[in-house]
Amino acid sequence: MNILWIKFNTINGGFQKRGIQSLVLIMKCIFCSGETHVTDKRESPEGTRRRRECLKCKKRFTTYEKAEKKAIIVVKKDGRREPFSREKIKIGIMKACEKRPIPLKNIENALDEIEEKLYKKGKEVKSEVIGKMIMHKLKKLDDIAYIRFASVYMNFKDIKDFKLALRQV
Ligand SMILES: [Zn+2]
Repeated sequence: MNILWIKFNTINGGFQKRGIQSLVLIMKCIFCSGETHVTDKRESPEGTRRRRECLKCKKRFTTYEKAEKKAIIVVKKDGRREPFSREKIKIGIMKACEKRPIPLKNIENALDEIEEKLYKKGKEVKSEVIGKMIMHKLKKLDDIAYIRFASVYMNFKDIKDFKLALRQV
């Protein structure tokens, strides 16, 4: 059996899908470089397994496509570092959006965009930068969610700070 391993960087689910699609389009026969088509597709622990057949020489081979994530390190205010976790920021956003009329899809989209931006930024990202990105997104989604998040994130000391944030809405 002929097996070809493909590795590529991915940012998130959506990007990964796009990546695979473009790979499918450019996947050429490993024997004659002719065009191939997929005869079978299956998820496996090794990645997405695709059985391919060359349209020209009719030879068959299998590809395994695996997403490879770059590690993003979050630098906290006190200098501590921890791996970036989409789940963690999702929890924060969900808390702020509790009981607000915001479709989950919009939250996921905002998360996608934040994640994509972070992966473009590089290896280390300050937690403040992430906080500001979240605030920016929430501002567009829902005023109340924005204020809630800002009050926790910015650690309002008094009503003056709060009013200042309100004015920015
Ligand atoms: Zn071929």
